[in-house]
Amino acid sequence: MGTDVNELETGGRLTVDLSAVQSNFRLLQTRCAPAECAAVVKADAYGLGAGPVAAALHEAGARTFFVAHPVEARAVRTSAPDAVIYVLSGLAPGAAPALAEIGARPVLGSVAEIEEWAAFAKARNLPGHAAIHIDTGMNRLGLTMEECTHIADRFASGSLGFELALVMSHLACADELSHPLNARQLAAFRQAAAQFPGIPASLANSAATLQGSDFRFDLCRPGIALYGGNPVPSEPNPLRPVVRVEARIVQIREAAKGETVGYGAAQTLAGPARLAILSIGYADGLIRAGGSSDSRRGADVLIAGERCPLVGRVSMDLAAADISHLDPARVARGDFATVLGDGLPVDELAKAAGTIGYEILTRISPRFARSYRG
Ligand SMILES: *Cc1c(COP(=O)(O)O)cnc(C)c1O
Repeated sequence: MGTDVNELETGGRLTVDLSAVQSNFRLLQTRCAPAECAAVVKADAYGLGAGPVAAALHEAGARTFFVAHPVEARAVRTSAPDAVIYVLSGLAPGAAPALAEIGARPVLGSVAEIEEWAAFAKARNLPGHAAIHIDTGMNRLGLTMEECTHIADRFASGSLGFELALVMSHLACADELSHPLNARQLAAFRQAAAQFPGIPASLANSAATLQGSDFRFDLCRPGIALYGGNPVPSEPNPLRPVVRVEARIVQIREAAKGETVGYGAAQTLAGPARLAILSIGYADGLIRAGGSSDSRRGADVLIAGERCPLVGRVSMDLAAADISHLDPARVARGDFATVLGDGLPVDELAKAAGTIGYEILTRISPRFARSYRG
């Protein structure tokens, strides 16, 4: 589903503004300079469609892309034939031939991965361009500092067995600049990168790219900022919104004071109400935690340009919004309610649902008709 779907056959529509993605990339590029600005397009470009998004980024000048899995590299390769593509999840056992076929580079995160890749490059007589990931304090992926030193010795003696193209690490708390772990990770990364003279280094995600030149090194790796999410919640968002999600109003109904709305009868109406029933639910990416109850206000949507609160739980395919305050002449069956975009930033919906913009974007389902602008 997605782009080819007729809007009349779906519950709603997703519009992705590719010119906003490009403008966000250019802003980030300016902040990165003189470092290179790469683009993280994992998880289908944070749910927005890796093919069109990578093509737009490539047109804007992106030449290095990061994805999570080889299958995602394949989608980017089609849109950006000459790009360098790194696979962040590294090298799964036996996956080297697929990576070579796609022309993607693994981000090697363990000694076992390094051995397997080196053996593959040797057997195939390939240069085997790859990155290595050093764990500087997150305890997710990457070589320990001890392993790093051991690999650096092999690099220095010319016996690594493949072409090392990038040394990278990842910050655990980049969105919180004052967190003490940032300084510790930065110091560890400087020490690690210094052991690979002449090899480009990369540490910064979106938040670190925007926050401090210390973190930028040779290559920055923004993701969420490209898609309009605010990487540093304590600061105003300098990026352009990219996504609009709209759901069709299936019906408008009146309900009386004291009646309840939706599953679990979780919300009781305090007075007579007019409700717009929207054809969007958690299967479309309006996560259930964004619903409303007597004890907790949920997300707002925009109907006829006005904010309207959700009422009751979000169902799989449906949600209800309170439109009692709107002039009835302004809302009709078949109109669209905006759930995201047009003044409802992704970070606001995330906050109402107790999560982060990343999760909201990546949960948007391909069930809605998708269109691309710009
Ligand atoms: C996802 C990811 C990024 C991008 O992070 P954002 O916060 O979205 O900018 C960068 N580097 C690595 C290793 C990642 O996993």
